[in-house]
Amino acid sequence: MGKFDHLSTELEQLCNEGRYRPLKIWDSGSDTWMELSGNKILQMSSNNYLGMTNHPDLQKAAIEAIEQYGVGSGSVRSITGTLRIHDELENELAKFKGTEAALVFQSGFTTNQGILSSILGPDDVVISDELNHASIIDGIRLTKAHRKIYGHKNLEQLEDCLKASASFRSRVVVTDGVFSMDGDIAPLPEIVQLAEKYDAIVYVDDAHASGVLGRNGKGSTDHFNLHGRVHIQVGTLSKAIGAVGGYMAGSQLLKDYLIHKARSFLFSTSLPPSVAAACLASVRVLKNEPERSERLWSNTLYFRDKLQKLGFDTGESETPIIPIIVGTPEKTNKFSDRLLEEGVFAQGIVFPTVAMDKGRVRLIITANHTMDDLNFALDRLQHVGKQFGLI
Ligand SMILES: *Cc1c(COP(=O)(O)O)cnc(C)c1O
Repeated sequence: MGKFDHLSTELEQLCNEGRYRPLKIWDSGSDTWMELSGNKILQMSSNNYLGMTNHPDLQKAAIEAIEQYGVGSGSVRSITGTLRIHDELENELAKFKGTEAALVFQSGFTTNQGILSSILGPDDVVISDELNHASIIDGIRLTKAHRKIYGHKNLEQLEDCLKASASFRSRVVVTDGVFSMDGDIAPLPEIVQLAEKYDAIVYVDDAHASGVLGRNGKGSTDHFNLHGRVHIQVGTLSKAIGAVGGYMAGSQLLKDYLIHKARSFLFSTSLPPSVAAACLASVRVLKNEPERSERLWSNTLYFRDKLQKLGFDTGESETPIIPIIVGTPEKTNKFSDRLLEEGVFAQGIVFPTVAMDKGRVRLIITANHTMDDLNFALDRLQHVGKQFGLI
């Protein structure tokens, strides 16, 4: 018996269930058309909502930062890893989000981990939507806080959880702003109202809402005009912003606390200066080029309407995340493979990320898709969708 036999057994099981997926290696950078093994493929599953990954302003900022600062920051933030460019980025993010302060982490994942694991102790309770992102779930796992899970967007259950939480030192309600697998939006105004009624902290993870919802992509708090009533906003710099990283936008007190207590902040090296510079440039583009988010939304409404008219089940989508529900993991991944043969990349998302019979390909529309691109995708989806009996 080999030491790793149990791992190969598990992988074999994934194979048998049609859930084994080797990584695809793309030969070009993130863009609407990408090269894969010599073929040009229409990219319909990236998080590059605003086409920022290769925006000339961001590229220029990154190159200049490398020339000025070199390629690495040299340390964790609390030792020598906080450069002027990190500070500028945080000031710009705070201004953009309309909060007192912002604190940047290496990714959205480590932001959630760092915040949840540090602000919550055994005397506190965290109340979380059942469909929240894995990084929230893992952040919660790292705390000794009491946990309550409410059904997806179920406000009655949320209120029950809050009612039963009066004896705790603090109550934190945590939700995705936009849910990543269905593309639906959290009922933030109602959540805020309930939180105010029961004296709870509101924590929103806007990874898929940053750059997408609100004026100039300011996020779900701005979208619902809830400024000053959401205590902790998390954003990612990895999706619409176009590079990598994550941040908290909130009070100066919270920032000071996290600088001293958040372990993913304290024990992992800060973003390279080129990345911080690219993110800074990206926030400025968001402010100066609102036509990007306008195009994102007009593309989204056009595409979703056409898909629905063709007869596809697009689930609960209200944003540029548009799932096409297919079924079992095996059927879903076969559907995704067939689309790829037709020149369209649409990632299959299967159990355990979603329910066993709710496998879907997840399409994400971007500002840079042209009408021709969208029509090409619709034509191929119609063709393959018929073969799979989806329409
Ligand atoms: C993608 C995502 C994250 C992780 O962000 P990264 O910057 O990619 O680590 C966190 N939360 C939610 C809701 C996400 O969708």
